[in-house]
Amino acid sequence: METINTLLAIDPNYIVVGLIILFFVLETFFNRREREHVGSKINHLFHNFLFQLLAIATGSVLGFLVVTTFDGISTYQLGLFNLISMPYWFKVLAGVIILDLSDYWLHRLDHVSPLLWRQHRVHHSDTSMDASTSFRTFPTDIIFFTIGELAFSVIFGLDIMSMNIFLFLLFPVLFMQHTSLTYPIWLDKAFGWLFMMPNYHKVHHEQDQYYTDSNYGTLFIVWDKLFGTFKTKPVQEINYGLKEFEGAHKQSFFYQLRSPFINIKRVEE
Ligand SMILES: [Zn+2]
Ligand SMILES: [Zn+2]
Repeated sequence: METINTLLAIDPNYIVVGLIILFFVLETFFNRREREHVGSKINHLFHNFLFQLLAIATGSVLGFLVVTTFDGISTYQLGLFNLISMPYWFKVLAGVIILDLSDYWLHRLDHVSPLLWRQHRVHHSDTSMDASTSFRTFPTDIIFFTIGELAFSVIFGLDIMSMNIFLFLLFPVLFMQHTSLTYPIWLDKAFGWLFMMPNYHKVHHEQDQYYTDSNYGTLFIVWDKLFGTFKTKPVQEINYGLKEFEGAHKQSFFYQLRSPFINIKRVEE
């Protein structure tokens, strides 16, 4: 636990900035298409990074709500896990799994509800996906996920350590899932029975809604397999983004910011 505490004490913003620089360098080095369009890649990163600045501002407000909720759970011994005695490590691990389950259902709701889709389509709108797409999330979508995760935390009586570990893993996982780096297929065979592999999350970013409405999991693939939403498609055949967001103007931060308030019809293939 000591090592975990030391890792969790690092300012997450430093980790995020360090990792996005690392992924930018790797993507430019290993991907010829990215190297040839490095100017537009920098522009793309800039627009997506503006969303991360909004996320930091949103997170600083939400942080108070998160800490207060977990304080309440522990003070009043709320939730299912507090009714049963279990080892602390087990409670923490089970909590991470529960948070991933909550994200699965919240993500599915984002796709099913036309109102929630308005905020969530911002993340799907990226037509030239790379690691920086991880930043492109509308602030209300972050609020929606956090409040949903806190509701699950109260019901199950989770420990704040589970949330800290989940958030610590989130950005490294998101960068790996959205990067334009190509991964060997054997990785999917070795780890794809348990984890949401990058090649599976990329299917979730396919324009064709049949595939967009699939692979909702964040860390684990098991929820999609269990609830029948797991789909595959060869990565090289994926058309990223949404047809209705094609064009430089619609890829800009300011258009994206306005987009949830504009009536935009879903354009089918
Ligand atoms: Zn989605
Ligand atoms: Zn994504």
